Amino acid sequence: MKKSKNVFVFMILAVFVVSLFAIVGCDEAAEPEIDEPEVDEPEVDEPAAVTRINMGAGWVTGVYYPLAGAMSRIAHTSIDNISLTVESSGASAVNSRMIGSGDLDMAIVQNDVAYYAYLGEGEAFEGNPIENMRGMFVLYPEPVQIVAAAGSGIESPADLAGKNVALGPLGSGAEVNALQVLEAAGLTEGDLGSAERLEAGEAADFLRDGRVDAAFFTVGIGASVIDELSVMADIYLVNIVGDIAESLIDNYPFYASVTIPGDAYSDVPEADTIAVLSMIVCREDLDADLIYDFMSGIFDNIDTIHGAHDVGHLVTLDTALDGMSVPLHPGAERFFEEKGMN
Ligand code: GLU
Repeated sequence: MKKSKNVFVFMILAVFVVSLFAIVGCDEAAEPEIDEPEVDEPEVDEPAAVTRINMGAGWVTGVYYPLAGAMSRIAHTSIDNISLTVESSGASAVNSRMIGSGDLDMAIVQNDVAYYAYLGEGEAFEGNPIENMRGMFVLYPEPVQIVAAAGSGIESPADLAGKNVALGPLGSGAEVNALQVLEAAGLTEGDLGSAERLEAGEAADFLRDGRVDAAFFTVGIGASVIDELSVMADIYLVNIVGDIAESLIDNYPFYASVTIPGDAYSDVPEADTIAVLSMIVCREDLDADLIYDFMSGIFDNIDTIHGAHDVGHLVTLDTALDGMSVPLHPGAERFFEEKGMN
């Protein structure tokens, strides 16, 4: 009985092992060869490869940042192959340097600062030209706005002597402009009571708290940093006119006279000053198709830019080349050529 049970178990095992070999060892040769008919693969829309790019914007309370945010939304909704990350920063000068080092793909910068950066001119860039910077398109005017506390007695830039002054964030275009304005007024930093480099929102806080008498902002009209300050504190804008304005316009090619209307802020009277322009730049080594696609997407959806901030309305195709201060990127060149503009 025991023996026949063993034989039975052995037979079961043998059958199992044989069938296992049959399964495992079943090679392709055993399969009958079927000639697969040649069928055309149906066309499937491959999702486009997405290129991630970053853009150096400026102050969170400025205008670059909300406009760059709008560009990022356009990329997200309407440009298949590009995703855009926005980085806040001190702005123009530091953005230019980060284009040079390759840390940024694109950046918003003042057109005067872009020019000095590209050529390696002026205190900020002397001997260190940012040769890989290329232009994409010009955005809107940025007046040099010297905000002063009521009662500070500052009537003109020359009156900044002995005062505590915020000269713009470190690495900003505002700082570059502030130093040029002081020089045109016959002053140096040493003539001030104190000279501060503060982040834009912090400069506004200092002004509100009486820790500085005046602060320089080169920024689009209506920027929230000045707008909010005008609600919280008694402030006015210092005129930059007469000899000082003339010498700035004569000595630096990008300044133009501008009037800030009386309804720009809360209870801040109209003021005359000088302005530069903001623009978008990128690295030379970015692909021309990428730049072309990006610009097409932005100008096809310009309403989103117009809706992002009051000065967004000033971004138009018609003015996108006025004041361009560095050589165009080939992708931008193609874009403008196709629009009949180059
Ligand atoms: N124009 C400013 C600068 O470069 C930045 C303004 C902004 O962030 O809107 O200093």
